Order: sequence, then C-alpha cells, then structure tokens
Amino acid sequence: MSEPIAYLNGAWLPAAEARVPVLDRGFIFGDGVYEVIPVYAGAPLRMGEHLARLRRSLHAIRMIDPHPAEEWAALLRELIDRHPWPDQMLYLQVTRGVARRDHAFPEDAAPTVLMMSSPLNTPSRDEVERGVAAVAATDYRWGRCDIKSIALLGNVLLRQVAVDAGAVETVLFRDGFLTEGAASNILVVSHGVLLAPPRSHLMLTGITYDLVLELAAAAGVPHQVREVTERETLAAEEIWLTSSTKEVLAITTLNGRPVGKGVPGPIFRRMHALYQEFKSACIASRAALHAAGETRP
Ligand code: PMP
Repeated sequence: MSEPIAYLNGAWLPAAEARVPVLDRGFIFGDGVYEVIPVYAGAPLRMGEHLARLRRSLHAIRMIDPHPAEEWAALLRELIDRHPWPDQMLYLQVTRGVARRDHAFPEDAAPTVLMMSSPLNTPSRDEVERGVAAVAATDYRWGRCDIKSIALLGNVLLRQVAVDAGAVETVLFRDGFLTEGAASNILVVSHGVLLAPPRSHLMLTGITYDLVLELAAAAGVPHQVREVTERETLAAEEIWLTSSTKEVLAITTLNGRPVGKGVPGPIFRRMHALYQEFKSACIASRAALHAAGETRP
C-alpha cells in the first residue's frame, strides 16, 4: 500500500516501473492534455467538473475522450483506494499515443492514458496566515491557455522566475491586463470588490476559480468578472491565487512590495473559511453516501 501505483493503458503497476515508448507524442511533441484532481479524506472535490474540463481539452485538441464519465469515475475510485493517503492529488494524462514522428495526426494511434496519485500537500497554516510572495512577469505563452495542455514550457519558465526570486508564484500580465498565475488563477480585491478576469483563450478556467466565484455569489461577497488591468492589480488591497492544490491563498507581497497592509485581507479570510466549509461538506456527504452503502466516488 505504501508504494505509489500508476494506471497505464489498462494496467496497474508500481509508478516507478511505468514506461511509455519514446515515440509517444506526449514525449515528442507535448501532444496531450491532463487534469489534477484533489481528494480530501477519500472524497474527490468537483470530480465532474474536472472530467468535463478534460473532455473540453481533448475536444480542443481534436481527440475523443477515451472513457465515458462513469468509467473515469470507477478508475479514479480504484486509484484512490489503492493508496493509503486520505488526502491525495490525482494526476490524469491523455496523449495522442505512439506513432512515427510526424507533426500531422497519426491515423491509427491509440491514446496513451496515465493516472497517478501522490499525497496532497495543501498550504501550511503559516502560508495561510501570512500569505505568500509573488513576482510579476509578462505573459508570453501561446494563445490557447484555456487548454490544459501537457506542453507547459512557458508555465515552467515563468514559474521559475518566482522560484529564482524566492517567491511562490508568478503573476502574469498580457498587454497591460492580468491573465493568471504560472500555475494558478489570480483574483484581486479592489475598492472592496473581488475582481476576476473573464474566461478567455488566454487563461485556464480553474475549477477552483469557478468554485471561489460560486462561494462569493452564495455568501454575498461583492464581486465582478471583468478585465483587470495591471495598474489595478499593483494597487489592489488584496491579491489571491487559486488552484486545486493551493486552494485559495493570499499573495501578500508582489515584487517585494506589500499588497495592501502586507497581510491576508478580511475578504480573503472570509473566502478561506468558506472554502474550508465547502470541503468539509463534501467530505461529510461522501461519508453519508458510504454509510448508505453507495460506492460511487
Ligand atoms: N492556471 C494554470 C496555468 C494552472 O496550471 C492551474 C492549475 N495548476 C490553474 C490555473 C488553476 O486551475 P484549478 O483550479 O483547476 O487547479
């Protein structure tokens, strides 16, 4: 139970032994898409939404989803059950498969399907209470950042800008507007209103971004989905990052300067509490299903 197990094209095997041929188009071209799903106390959070986004990503790269949602759900349940950690990070990847190296789509390649799990490391109490540092950079990635592509070189290079500066995330701006973070979505609080950049081809629509906006609407937190300028971001009272593994986290310094008072703001603290309540409710509802003998994830 302690060794991570991977699922590769129908087989379960120790993750360290999982291999794909060098001609896999994921390896050669980055020709594939992926998902990351958080699991709390055995319960996957927003699994349906993650699977729907996977299907959208596959559709965008002109691939057919290899599994209907019920099959994915059963595979994910097995992946969770094969690991001892209550909180897990599930990783799913689908590539266009193995074929002679040619940019054009192969006619008869079967997709490569990989799933793995690792322990979910959510932010520490200290990170939640103090917030984290971020740096700003120009977003030079491609024009289809809405696809959750495994070709992440732009994100890798931009995230390293933060790492090199001793920061946690890089906040990206394109043509004077906020897009997202190198591995997260970014929301800001300006004049007491939570602002979220609208969905577009220039950012990934985060499952956490959607959830945070839903929680804001339900709790009556003033919010707007609209273009956010770089200037507004640099002058914001609060800046947050959201992602499935970092949940919602306050950015308290940007480029070494304090954001607002330099501590997580009141609207962040409220949202963080709402997010934790939402997680607890998910765990409780899964526990109730379990007690009733229901086996679906
Ligand atoms: N944008 C980018 C570039 C990401 O890599 C991620 C996920 N790590 C997100 C946004 C957040 O998406 P989600 O909330 O679905 O994890």
